[in-house]
Amino acid sequence: MRYSALQVFLNGLTGNKNWKPVWRNPEPKSHYDVIIIGGGGHGLSTAYYLAAKYGITNVAVLERGYLGGGNVGRNTTIVRANYFLEGNSQFYSHSLKMWESLEQELNYNVMLSQRGQVILGHSDGQVDSLARRGNMMRMQGDDAELWSREETKRQLPYLNHDDPRFPVYGALMHWRGGTARHDAVAWGFARGADMRGVDLIQNCEVKGFRIENGKVLGVETSRGYIGAGKVGMTVAGRTSQVGEMAGLRLPIESHVLQAFVTEGLKPIMPHVVSFGMGHFYLSQSDKGGLVFGGDLDMYNSYAQRGNLPMVEHVAEAGMALMPMIGKAKMLRSWGGIMDMSMDGTPIIDKTHIDGFFLNCGWCYGGFKAVPASGDCFAHLISTGNHHKAADKFLLSRFETGHVIDETGNGATPNLH
Ligand SMILES: Cc1cc2nc3c(=O)[nH]c(=O)nc-3n(C[C@H](O)[C@H](O)[C@H](O)COP(=O)(O)OP(=O)(O)OC[C@H]3O[C@@H](n4cnc5c(N)ncnc54)[C@H](O)[C@@H]3O)c2cc1C
Repeated sequence: MRYSALQVFLNGLTGNKNWKPVWRNPEPKSHYDVIIIGGGGHGLSTAYYLAAKYGITNVAVLERGYLGGGNVGRNTTIVRANYFLEGNSQFYSHSLKMWESLEQELNYNVMLSQRGQVILGHSDGQVDSLARRGNMMRMQGDDAELWSREETKRQLPYLNHDDPRFPVYGALMHWRGGTARHDAVAWGFARGADMRGVDLIQNCEVKGFRIENGKVLGVETSRGYIGAGKVGMTVAGRTSQVGEMAGLRLPIESHVLQAFVTEGLKPIMPHVVSFGMGHFYLSQSDKGGLVFGGDLDMYNSYAQRGNLPMVEHVAEAGMALMPMIGKAKMLRSWGGIMDMSMDGTPIIDKTHIDGFFLNCGWCYGGFKAVPASGDCFAHLISTGNHHKAADKFLLSRFETGHVIDETGNGATPNLH
């Protein structure tokens, strides 16, 4: 069913009883041309583009839980294209352009809100590096605006600009950045893939691989063996575990990342704001809650919840930047498992196993990547060649040393 204002009107007249389920609930077939493991943002968008762009429709997405139950439904929803290094900058630029037409492409409201994302600078050196980053963004064709201290104060009056430890010296505004509704993104891609014949199979955990003579033949699952011509892995925080089932030892560590939301407040902050002196950022949701996040919990974990020291750290940063936040009641917090790569940059590549492809290492920035990741991964799986927007995301860079270390932290995944 194509969604339209007329459909809303007609269904309103009939008590909303005629809406169809957004996707089917099929039994797995014995064989598919392509199996995608993981029904998160990246798996669903890959399946969608395989069908929509490359005409490959004999595809299954195997999800151990329910669609969108992983990080794609747990993140703080920020989309942006403000990377500095070659490799990242063209990829995220490609992704933001895809976001801008995604709702029309999917015929689904993903509530993209390009409200502007601003990064604060708290020293002359930091403002210099923001200027440099802004120049790179503009050279890539994206927007960036450097704000003086006065302009930052004028635009963001609700912040504490004169904190003695972290005074605000200026900021970099990226107007096309913003937020999107995370679970709607998963549902929109799921619906689009299902409509084109892709089987979305929930409660189906991949437990092993059948590999013979260096070629993948299929996967062992909690619902039996399923054969496949090709297999793509998009399991985010479970990457090392699932990779190990295929005999791969990957440069990925799993870490927990938390997010928080307050009670609903009247509109106060129109933009997404990132603190420059600690890992803290916040925005206000359409329901009025302040949504904010911080740093990783700094220990390896597969638990989708974090610990109190990071809650305290985030609350401290929030109080330094926006003291009025102390009056708001925190309603909920939750966590997700991040697939942290050694240089903070993702991997979209083939493996030494014929027909087995990798999509991982999204760290805590993979939501904004969802459209481009699906596009580029589908391109790789169907053509065997790297899409030009993702041709630097190679696994071999960890052997050759051509790492893309955006934060300059070296091989310390918990610091990226
Ligand atoms: C608190 C938090 C805040 C974040 N904020 C942002 C942000 O503001 N902006 C941004 O760009 N990114 C953000 N991220 C990161 C982003 O959410 C992730 O990088 C991205 O969602 C990961 O890709 P995915 O959607 O495919 O992962 P997931 O949704 O986790 O999908 C992976 C799926 O694989 C399934 N799976 C795992 N093992 C198996 C198996 N053996 N068999 C079958 N299925 C399996 C899982 O159940 C899961 O559903 C944030 C993440 C968190 C947790």
